[in-house]
Amino acid sequence: MEDKRTELDELGEFGLIDRITENFTNTQKSTVLGIGDDAAIISNDEEIVVSTDILTEGIHFDLSYFPLKHLGFKSVAVNVSDIAAMNAIPTQITVSLAISNKFSLQAIDEFYAGVKSACEQYNVDLVGGDTSSSAAGVFISITAIGSAPKDKITLRSGAQDKDIICVTGDLGGAYVGLQVLAREKQVFLANPEMQPKLDDFEYVVGRQLKPDARMDIIHELRDLGTIPTSMIDISDGLASELKHLSKHSNLGLRIFEEQIPIDNQTFETAVEFKLDPITCALNGGEDYELLFTIGQDDYEKLKKHADIHFIGHMEKSDDGPGLVTKGGSWIALQAQGWNHFTK
Ligand code: ADP
Ligand code: MG
Repeated sequence: MEDKRTELDELGEFGLIDRITENFTNTQKSTVLGIGDDAAIISNDEEIVVSTDILTEGIHFDLSYFPLKHLGFKSVAVNVSDIAAMNAIPTQITVSLAISNKFSLQAIDEFYAGVKSACEQYNVDLVGGDTSSSAAGVFISITAIGSAPKDKITLRSGAQDKDIICVTGDLGGAYVGLQVLAREKQVFLANPEMQPKLDDFEYVVGRQLKPDARMDIIHELRDLGTIPTSMIDISDGLASELKHLSKHSNLGLRIFEEQIPIDNQTFETAVEFKLDPITCALNGGEDYELLFTIGQDDYEKLKKHADIHFIGHMEKSDDGPGLVTKGGSWIALQAQGWNHFTK
């Protein structure tokens, strides 16, 4: 079947907006007015939480291995993850796009199919955005809006001495998945007849291409009556996020190497790539799991949770975050994180 290609200028800006928005319906009671006027209207009795991210082609994603539908989903998920990290519930998003004319209408449809799937999964309304052309490359900026009662909002600064440090899911997978995709891209560039061999790497590639914001955990914490004392989502890597918690809460902390959750496929693939799995978990980034602290009293409520891991505790010290190795030695955590400005 021949792929149909419709140029964006055949449709025009307003045609494009109509096309995008006809597939979306609003379901949130806080959405008073959605797309179509000069601004959206949102009404809520709770505290309003707002977060924005920009994603730039060639810096945050490579379109040669990032399917547009996944990109649409991930762009929303990473913003929802920031709302989750405030212990808030997301309600609306806006999506702004700058695209070059190499993109067809079908490509935009694919991207918005991913956006829609994320809106359904996370229960958010698309209430606005902006569309522009770009001289080169794709730029995506998403703003997520959410809310929570004032007493439930969780900041990076609230951790107390002896609080237990918790992390959800497993770490390092997204980074290892990116290595797999980059390798397959090189193989493909060398020989376009070669099909990528990704079957053995399904989990880690999925962690990179389709990360899930942990709203499930936020709802479960509410059901259990637990309010974390501090929280942050893991976008830049565990070490970097621990540094933020330590700095904002004015405390030291220690985590234990043997408690860091790493999936088997992540571990084995890291080894295959001659990478240290622990380093991938500490500095890899893009896992979008939640890192939070709880008071000791809350441990009983969470200890049986299959997807929450207790990796260490906060402590009064000026040494910052440290890792206790399997051998028992303390080493200062280096937060490499992702720094897009150092090359
Ligand atoms: P303005 O000229 O006031 O910026 P636009 O013509 O850009 O208005 O937008 C008209 C409506 O369509 C607004 O409600 C805007 O939020 C929405 N909109 C524009 N582009 C997008 C997009 N890419 N995704 C979602 N909504 C959009
Ligand atoms: Mg506009």
